[in-house]
Amino acid sequence: MKWYRKLHWQIIIGMILGLIYGIAAAQFQWTEFATNWIVPFGDIFMNLLKLIAVPLVLTSLVAGVASLSDFKKLSRMGGKTIGLYIATTAVAVTIGLLVVNSIQPGAKLPADTKAKLEAQFQANAADKAKGETAETARQRGPLQPLVDMVPDNFFGSASSNRNMLQLVFVSLLIGIALVQVSSEHRQPVLSIFEGLQAVVIKLVNMIMLMAPIGVFALITKTITSLATGEGGQANLDQIGAILGALGYYCIAVVIGLLLHTTIVYLGLLKVFTPLKISQFFKAIGPAQLLAFSTSSSGATLPVTMRQCKEKLGASKETTSFVLPLGATINMDGTALYQAVAAVFIAQASGMSLDMGAQLTIVITAVLASIGTAAVPGAGIIMLVIILEAIDVPSEGIALILGVDRILDMLRTTTNVTGDAAVCAVIANSEKQLNPPGE
Ligand code: ASP
Repeated sequence: MKWYRKLHWQIIIGMILGLIYGIAAAQFQWTEFATNWIVPFGDIFMNLLKLIAVPLVLTSLVAGVASLSDFKKLSRMGGKTIGLYIATTAVAVTIGLLVVNSIQPGAKLPADTKAKLEAQFQANAADKAKGETAETARQRGPLQPLVDMVPDNFFGSASSNRNMLQLVFVSLLIGIALVQVSSEHRQPVLSIFEGLQAVVIKLVNMIMLMAPIGVFALITKTITSLATGEGGQANLDQIGAILGALGYYCIAVVIGLLLHTTIVYLGLLKVFTPLKISQFFKAIGPAQLLAFSTSSSGATLPVTMRQCKEKLGASKETTSFVLPLGATINMDGTALYQAVAAVFIAQASGMSLDMGAQLTIVITAVLASIGTAAVPGAGIIMLVIILEAIDVPSEGIALILGVDRILDMLRTTTNVTGDAAVCAVIANSEKQLNPPGE
């Protein structure tokens, strides 16, 4: 097959064209055309991906859990998977704290830039942060995340992509119950879920044909909104100045994500799987690219599942259990970013955080990342919980909103990489990893 017919190359081309077109659109004031005629294709692509998120999680988890057929095996795999997810997230937060405390990006922020940025993003932040999620997040008790996880109405939780954790909970319950009924009752129900899963995966492949155009439109949207100043004037200097001022903060997040990927994921793969590092990255590359361009690990899930199954050789049983669970509860990149962002905002507002506060960050960031929806921008909303927990004014998120989209792309890529790495480790530990020959 010619290289340009491969989907991941088409996605890369879509991204590069989106970048070029976005800058040109801001420069030559074609933004209206872009908004009217290009951006909607990005929205259509995102809608299609979100559309299949609920059926995918439901059918994959129910079929995944039920196909384990043996309750002992299920609790063993579930224990290992959840344990590994939580452990990697806690390490991610710790790495984030170490990096941000060494680089001290907040202390380097020039006072006037800080004031300007604060004023500019204040209104924006107020809008985002006063959303219902943030408001209720503020009033939560310590066990509220647990209560929120248990829905009182199945259709209520399946009717919105924001209630993914509830859907995971219900799917796991249905799967566990299915394992325990007689096979006479289990088989027909399981066949329906497996059939539905096959249909959903077919839909995924159909939707992915649109990915290059969708990605082009999404990147165009991001760049035009970053590069256009007030009154629709091209404001390329502005992005330069803001990115420059927040550069250290971004660098801290990027270094943290890279360290986490190298130390934790590559370490896990090296020690616990026979996979070569290059083989791993080649296999999950398309999922990483999609995570990068959509900023949504939920939207990327179908592709992560396909790549892990077909290219890494993890069994269907493992991918359908480990990955949907991971897309929902395992967000190492998000947790790491939340730790860096919380300390950055504290530093920028002249506060110093003691050990107790740093420990609070570890605990709340692990919990917040579990509860973060796998959609773009969810991480910054959950950041409010962490800021409130350490008494840092949550309005401080105004400072980092401008660069959030770019960091969202990077942290989502890490989130997806983490899910795939854990999937490979679990598959291998269950003797269900058969990498296809290169
Ligand atoms: N966009 C992230 C994801 O879907 C969540 C976040 O950090 O905002 O994985």
